[in-house]
Amino acid sequence: MDRRRLLQSLAGLGGPALMPSAVRAQRRRPRVAVIGAGVMGASIAYHLAAGGAEVVVLERVSPGSQATQGAFAMLIATHEDDRAFNDLYGMAVLDWRRLELELGGAVQVQWGGTATWVPPGPGAAELDAVTRRLQSWGAPVRPIDAQELADLVPGVVAGPYGAGVFSPDQGTLDPIQALDALVAAGRRRGVAYRYPCEVLALKRDGQQITGLRTGQGDVDADVVVLAAGAAVPALAGQVGVKTPINLVSGTLAHSKPFPRVLQRVLNGPLGSLKQDPDGRIVTGADYRPGASGTDTSRAYGEQLLATAVRMVPALAGVELESMSLGYVPIPADTHPIVGFCAAPSNLYVALTMSGVTMAPLMGRLAASEILDGVAVETLSAYRPARFA
Ligand SMILES: Cc1cc2nc3c(=O)[nH]c(=O)nc-3n(C[C@H](O)[C@H](O)[C@H](O)COP(=O)(O)OP(=O)(O)OC[C@H]3O[C@@H](n4cnc5c(N)ncnc54)[C@H](O)[C@@H]3O)c2cc1C
Repeated sequence: MDRRRLLQSLAGLGGPALMPSAVRAQRRRPRVAVIGAGVMGASIAYHLAAGGAEVVVLERVSPGSQATQGAFAMLIATHEDDRAFNDLYGMAVLDWRRLELELGGAVQVQWGGTATWVPPGPGAAELDAVTRRLQSWGAPVRPIDAQELADLVPGVVAGPYGAGVFSPDQGTLDPIQALDALVAAGRRRGVAYRYPCEVLALKRDGQQITGLRTGQGDVDADVVVLAAGAAVPALAGQVGVKTPINLVSGTLAHSKPFPRVLQRVLNGPLGSLKQDPDGRIVTGADYRPGASGTDTSRAYGEQLLATAVRMVPALAGVELESMSLGYVPIPADTHPIVGFCAAPSNLYVALTMSGVTMAPLMGRLAASEILDGVAVETLSAYRPARFA
């Protein structure tokens, strides 16, 4: 069945029946099962329910317990790879502003931009080149010198300065606070969250997923959204869909709440540093490409905070509260894998890197594709079929 006919039949508009006609006559709302309650699944569920779907989210552990809890959660406005991907990031941060308004302030975002700098050397020439490339695409970035960095971040100790860039449109949030707000907003719209509830198998009948087998019994669905993060390849693989990923890890130190010092995110040579809306300092240095840190010891956390104090001496006295470790799935070609599969045609995959940044945009676009029967052009380069 092609997608338009599937959607027509879900909407009771004719076409081959997915469900008995008596049932179809009574129930016009499509039933969507979302696998995974990370930030991606929670956002898609919220947007689907807002669009009128009957939504159940099935989560193996608890909401946010995997990659989402471990995110630094910078809302990223640019990407250096290619222009279309850069534009996608630009749209994604705008969607956070839209969602912030829509949820009536329930999500707390710090919109202070990010300041990035590197020491003299090849890295400085590279950063300058990336900044010029992004500017040529119209991206909201501008080069900054050491004085401008000091103006943006009073009291910062930059160390030897080679080059810098300020991205005023970027923001940050606490990923669990944001996820809780999305889950609550989804529930208010009727989303049912089930956890712990592991999806064990996707039941396939020809070209369709007919339901899911879970640790808590079977679940019927007209459409299945696969937002299971690092588990997407194994689940999609059960029904012959390829979604190759690389898994990288990273750790972060989280402080006890501290009086407000930072108004923006800092990406310096010693690491990344921010202050969440609740006052907690979050810092890390081992989640850059290739780093893949796993050290969650107290000693390492204290070392990270000591480095933060070297960067911003006004943080002296900050105390470690906890360490986090997250494993992030990154599609093999780094681009999102989003959309309906060729077969089974009612399986919708949603997997991206920078998932916190992307969640509101992907949630809105996925809901539109699933409920309105459109194929959003912006996502056309990112379909699962490219790995077939
Ligand atoms: C150190 C670090 C820094 C990061 N920094 C940023 C950043 O600055 N900006 C940014 O945008 N992103 C950042 N990220 C990436 C971001 O965390 C992820 O891209 C995002 O959280 C992915 O969300 P998700 O919902 O796709 O996956 P997840 O949060 O992993 O959610 C998937 C869910 O599916 C569930 N699940 C799996 N299998 C099953 C099953 N069989 N049945 C039911 N449920 C199942 C899991 O339990 C999990 O809860 C960072 C990550 C780390 C670790």
